[in-house]
Amino acid sequence: MPTTHLVFDLDDTLYPERDYAIGGFKAAAAWACAELGVSVDVDAMTALLDDGHLGQLFPKVLRAARPDHSADDLRAFIRAYGQHTPSLFLFADAADALDHWQPRVNLGLITDGHAPTQQSKINALALAPRFRKIVLTGALGPDRAFHKPHPHAFEIMQATLTKVGAGDRFVYVGDNLAKDFIAPNTLGWTSVHIDRPAHRHHRIHKHTQAAAGGAPHETVSSLAELITLLD
Ligand SMILES: [Mg+2]
Repeated sequence: MPTTHLVFDLDDTLYPERDYAIGGFKAAAAWACAELGVSVDVDAMTALLDDGHLGQLFPKVLRAARPDHSADDLRAFIRAYGQHTPSLFLFADAADALDHWQPRVNLGLITDGHAPTQQSKINALALAPRFRKIVLTGALGPDRAFHKPHPHAFEIMQATLTKVGAGDRFVYVGDNLAKDFIAPNTLGWTSVHIDRPAHRHHRIHKHTQAAAGGAPHETVSSLAELITLLD
């Protein structure tokens, strides 16, 4: 009897990544206030984020608050964002779905990003006890070498959760059409796009384009729908 292994992406799949970013903006603003004596507008940072400018917003807002800041100031400002201890909550449908599946199937997590940052999110959400296997692609090699769509993390997951040739079913659930589904599609997994209508405009990566070979097999608007789909 083939076993089902259900593997999730983290950011914007299980919790709203925007919440992590806003918490980080507050930490960066607190650093700027304490160390430079300037006021940085967290709402302005959030507006830039929502317009798709996460990459450039730190130099932009620090320059506005303190035009004569040094390169070290900018580095410390960004570090305050990246090293803050987040306070996060699962999407309600994600919490329910994990409760539903945890006793029934093997759960896995594959997430891209700076590994200590991703670990801090996992800690904030108390996810470690829920998953049989967690792969932080940022910990597999330098310079994002094994970030999705690289298949290495998916191969590790397969090798960890099942015996070779067991014919088990693997499912990957993610939100990012640009990178999440290419590797699982190639490996014969079922790929599922989670697209919550109420959250669609708050996704961090909403400006990314769909990738060739990366179309998901299924799209669901909540993880409650996934329960119906898989059961
Ligand atoms: Mg994601």
